[in-house]
Amino acid sequence: MVEEVCGQWLKQLLGIPASASFALVTGCQMAHATALAAARHKLLANRGWDVEINGLAGSTPLRVLTSERRHESLIRAVKFLGIGEAAIELVGCEADGQMRMTDLAATLQNAADTPTIVCLQAGDIHTGGFDPFPEACDIAHSHSAWVHIDGAFGLWVASSDRLRHLLSGAEQADSWVTDGHKWLNVPFDSGFAFVAHPAAHRAAMSQSASYLISVGDARDQLDWTPEWSRRGRGFPAYAAIKSLGRTGIAQLVEQCCDHAHRLVTEISTLPGAELVITPKINQGLVRFLSPDGDHDRRTDRIIEGIQAKGIAWFGGTTWQNKRVMRVSVCNWRTTDGDVDRAITSVRKILAEIS
Ligand SMILES: *Cc1c(COP(=O)(O)O)cnc(C)c1O
Repeated sequence: MVEEVCGQWLKQLLGIPASASFALVTGCQMAHATALAAARHKLLANRGWDVEINGLAGSTPLRVLTSERRHESLIRAVKFLGIGEAAIELVGCEADGQMRMTDLAATLQNAADTPTIVCLQAGDIHTGGFDPFPEACDIAHSHSAWVHIDGAFGLWVASSDRLRHLLSGAEQADSWVTDGHKWLNVPFDSGFAFVAHPAAHRAAMSQSASYLISVGDARDQLDWTPEWSRRGRGFPAYAAIKSLGRTGIAQLVEQCCDHAHRLVTEISTLPGAELVITPKINQGLVRFLSPDGDHDRRTDRIIEGIQAKGIAWFGGTTWQNKRVMRVSVCNWRTTDGDVDRAITSVRKILAEIS
């Protein structure tokens, strides 16, 4: 019952159609596996192939289109499902990282008969950027492709009046995934998958056994998730949503975005720092310039220095072939004072490390 209530609340909060099915899984990784299993089922069933009975050997090969901003967990899901990494084709991006729609259309047109899953990003881990959902869904659906959205962070902006516009058109997708253990701040082991085609979702997951007891049409998690046995996973998310409500979640989301914005823009004004990406939501990028021109090395040294000080923790990453510092804020307890202390600490380190 708690999971059922949670599923309904989450769909309302995240702007997902009420008719979608849902599953509470361990994280976005398994949410990808669950949602893409439903996609695999439906795309092949449309071609008269029952993948749950026949497996993939002998079926039409599937194709997965995504962009450089996809999270690696998506690739792992494609591997688990036997689709194989070689089936992934990267679509080009605009300078700001958004998937280029002319490239998407051209790639779909080329091999138009191949059953295809288009994977889009809502809040990617480097820029926090969102793909253009209305155009991407129109183009993909005109080629009978399945649209999957990774919204590990990004789906949560649906709770905010200020930020919801970033998700415009996302409701037209065929599947969506997100995490509870990131922005909702519940303990690990909380991911959510949603599928616009409940019959395909159920067909991909369900397994009956003579010793199991079914009670009328009561929901059984075994029909929707990859696990057989599991704990009452819905309780932490239920409790968090119940206590925060939509306004509390919106406040949490907006507050993290404001902190990330301040961190990135103010660190960028320090001597020797350069703004790379201003956060659209709660993630952005900065790098540090060296007089000797080896900016990658200096950026890594400064990041090491910040981590060693222990006031703030930012990770290093590579963005468009440059070493950069990734600023990501998702803890509800981070305050304006913490942001001030972090900026002061970075200022000191920049002065200390020559
Ligand atoms: C964290 C993350 C994932 C993987 O989620 P887990 O909950 O760790 O399985 C997938 N996509 C994005 C964008 C993420 O940030």
